[in-house]
Amino acid sequence: MRLSNAALALAILGLGVLEVRAESRHADLLIENARVVTMDETFRVIEGGTIAIEGTRILAVGGGEVSQEFEAAQTIDAGGDIVMPGMINTHTHASMTIFRGLGDDVPDRLRRFIFPLEAMVVNADNVRKGALLGAVEMVLSGATTFVDMYYFEDEVARAAKTVGVRAILGETIIGFPAPDAKEAYGGLAYAKKFIREFADDDLIVPALAPHAPYTMDREHLAEVAGAARELGVPVLLHLSETQAEIDHIATEFQMSPVEYIDTVGLLTNELVAAHCIFVDGDDIELMKAKGVGVSHNIVSNIKAGKGVAPVLEMLEAGVDVGLGTDGPMSGNTLDMMGLLGYTAKLHKLAKLDRRVMPAKDVVEMATIGGARAVNMEDRIGSLEVGKLADLIIVDTDSVHMIPMYDVYSALVYAAKAHDVHTVIINGQQIVRNRELLTVDVEKVKRDVLVLTEQIAKKAEDL
Ligand SMILES: [Zn+2]
Repeated sequence: MRLSNAALALAILGLGVLEVRAESRHADLLIENARVVTMDETFRVIEGGTIAIEGTRILAVGGGEVSQEFEAAQTIDAGGDIVMPGMINTHTHASMTIFRGLGDDVPDRLRRFIFPLEAMVVNADNVRKGALLGAVEMVLSGATTFVDMYYFEDEVARAAKTVGVRAILGETIIGFPAPDAKEAYGGLAYAKKFIREFADDDLIVPALAPHAPYTMDREHLAEVAGAARELGVPVLLHLSETQAEIDHIATEFQMSPVEYIDTVGLLTNELVAAHCIFVDGDDIELMKAKGVGVSHNIVSNIKAGKGVAPVLEMLEAGVDVGLGTDGPMSGNTLDMMGLLGYTAKLHKLAKLDRRVMPAKDVVEMATIGGARAVNMEDRIGSLEVGKLADLIIVDTDSVHMIPMYDVYSALVYAAKAHDVHTVIINGQQIVRNRELLTVDVEKVKRDVLVLTEQIAKKAEDL
């Protein structure tokens, strides 16, 4: 116990100091009376817990006694609600909100519908508007970080910063002219400029996003791998997503897409591979050996009728797996909370075994597992001292959340996006009482709605 200078002086002077108080530490924000789901190594859950935040970081996590240690500028009484790490959406295309619900049941959709539509419609302005809507939707449903691949990623970055959400953003590189590149593979030059612009940003991690093994040639895949090494940035890639991709790579190169990607130098610890539906035991071993992160996108995969990624086998092998919504043209919503139940239930169904994919493992993939997949586990994904203050508060007073015997069960099988009432990212409160504090949501919605008539007209011709 330290005495304040004044108290010390009084004590020395023998003037009868009756009260000696411990000096309290300063915090910017205290969250008290919380059911803290830490997602730390021991999966500690603290009833009546407190979290102290100073600047962008978590200063303390503990029981009610922590409250006594701090003098806080602001206090939030969680009222017994769940406080947990913000979720990490490890794969999406946020700007595609402008296309949500178009051509949903069209076969061979990517080539016959999406690519031609994007060529006609996508520009910097509507990428920004779509990304704003997407970022708003993600934050309101409990994501505090998202991983995005698209065109004009500098616009997505500005949208993410406006909303105040953390993002790993990969500029798409593809083997034909794209909305932001007149030449095939022009995305690489665009990406280099984008990476320079956002190199030191506190919310944005710029990345390279080669589209897929089947939309680029070998030489350019290798060039992207070299650029990623040189620039020290993550690489985002669609991998082993369809049977057609498997057949194409097998015919051309007599190997699996995972093996093929390894031969061009892309299969590294910096890779976040989306989908990985058609991978076998050898592929999984190779992914583990190379430290690849996997984004599992169950809702998108169900809707497209693609297949079930062998995630149980990946987890068993020790591969880092996070969860993703995929783009809003694929999964239609960017709702991470809604994804949790699907993830647990589909794997149980696929294995005809209710024991597999327990709720706790699903919450792990949505938080610290996703952080590991994107190599940010030292900064985000769990509530621990020194980590960035990215967290959400989930209402436990909703009708469907009562009673709550098991917090992981409640989150996975019962909670809804709307139960997220508070969101803090990088120490900043972004959502209070389910209201976004950073942008005018009505304007964000209007800005997208004015685009839709023209988009619908163009889509009719496809
Ligand atoms: Zn995708």
